[in-house]
Amino acid sequence: MIVVTGATGQLGRLVVEGLLAKVPAAELAVAVRSPQKAADWAARGVTVHRVDYDEPATLAAAFAAGDRVLLISGSEVGARVPQHTAVVEAARAAGVALLAYTGILGGDEASFALADEHKATEAAILASGLPFTFLRNGWYTENYTANAAGSIAHGAVLGSNGDARIATAARRDYADAAVEVLTGEGHEGRAYELSGDTAWSFSEYAAELAAHSGRPVTYRDLGAEEHRQALIGLGLPEGFATILVDVDAAIARGELARDRGELGRLIGRPTTPMAETVRAVLAG
Ligand code: NDP
Repeated sequence: MIVVTGATGQLGRLVVEGLLAKVPAAELAVAVRSPQKAADWAARGVTVHRVDYDEPATLAAAFAAGDRVLLISGSEVGARVPQHTAVVEAARAAGVALLAYTGILGGDEASFALADEHKATEAAILASGLPFTFLRNGWYTENYTANAAGSIAHGAVLGSNGDARIATAARRDYADAAVEVLTGEGHEGRAYELSGDTAWSFSEYAAELAAHSGRPVTYRDLGAEEHRQALIGLGLPEGFATILVDVDAAIARGELARDRGELGRLIGRPTTPMAETVRAVLAG
């Protein structure tokens, strides 16, 4: 059985759809906290387990010996070490054949705060002794295009990264990498550093928004503190605004610009260019 946690999230949905195109539904299970969100898959024959990372007892029944499990990292920043550790412990107790984990680009070398929970999770997986694959995901292009309408309306992409470069890829690209690891062979013990084929600068992103909207949009580099205040002004909690400004400092250091082609090689095709994701978002 292949078991996917976080399957009803944005990345998880793409992973499950990719798996359903490759393996029979009877060989797939999802471990989700809202089974009603997985009703369409259940109707197609996918097994649905209700789990909550915060309730370790719910995790035991989701995994069995020999399963290939994808742990999609949780979305509650600050709570993820105990949450992920509970999943690792349940997978270890069941004796799964593979535990794949969606971590963060750079792994142990990543120097920004958002990476800390991913590093701790990878350490817990290594300590478990389970066969593993680390999918160290770079940034989704959609992290930026989700705000495309606001950037166009304000005529500005805001940041504090000194107009550095970042090698994003579309969520679908990272999802396809997970599908390959779960269905292919030879991925055990590997840590994949996954990122887009081509790094882009924030000025280039702003120019792309301008080209597709017909409105003037430029990149405005704020200092770290002004950027933090701007994010708070947009409604982000203070702690998360601080984390995102810290990410921009890492972008300025070039940490998220690793365009080494590992994602493209794993999925056997070029990654989705930033401009294509912009086009799709503005068309849709
Ligand atoms: P989403 O927020 O769309 O999905 C997160 C998934 O985690 C959801 O399915 C959610 O369940 C599930 N989840 C959260 N908390 C729990 C819990 N306590 N128990 C069980 N399941 C839980 O994020 P994405 O799909 O876009 O991204 C996947 C992960 O990647 C994120 O959770 C985050 O760790 C990381 N990430 C990576 C980014 C990148 O650029 N590389 C950017 C942002 C996040 P439910 O469907 O019920 O809400």
